[in-house]
Amino acid sequence: MEDCIFCKIIAGQIPCSRVYEDEKVLAFLDINPISEGHTLVIPKAHAENLWEIHEEDLTAVHMASKKIIRAMKQVLNPEGVACLQLNGRGVNQVVMHYHLHLIPRTKGSEPLPVSSWELKPGNQEAIARLAEKIAANLG
Ligand code: AMP
Ligand code: ZN
Repeated sequence: MEDCIFCKIIAGQIPCSRVYEDEKVLAFLDINPISEGHTLVIPKAHAENLWEIHEEDLTAVHMASKKIIRAMKQVLNPEGVACLQLNGRGVNQVVMHYHLHLIPRTKGSEPLPVSSWELKPGNQEAIARLAEKIAANLG
């Protein structure tokens, strides 16, 4: 897609530090890493977000991610890997081409800002009502 920076990376018009590629997926290191090894896994077919992406591309992205975090384990021996995926400018999606962040945290490094938040109990009745509403709108 024109003017999409990740489509340009896929087309080879912009360089990247590639870690994985197959028929449907490309993965490369983030140029603004929030931890060592911060990787982006993207479908080659342009789709903006989780609403738009085709199921086979979504599957391919996650299958590739499984392979990549196995390799990360060998190389970085992380304590854990956070998988983060943003949908919409309202939640700070900046590049409007679906991407899954794989963010490893190595031993002794700072806690990841994306994986720690305060747990505050919600209104359990409201939670139950909302679950029913969403469930009733599936499919
Ligand atoms: P977001 O859309 O907020 O989920 O994040 C977009 C991510 O893409 C950011 O972490 C950027 O650092 C990253 N990014 C933007 N341009 C490039 C690029 N040319 N190569 C690698 N990563 C990029
Ligand atoms: Zn694109």
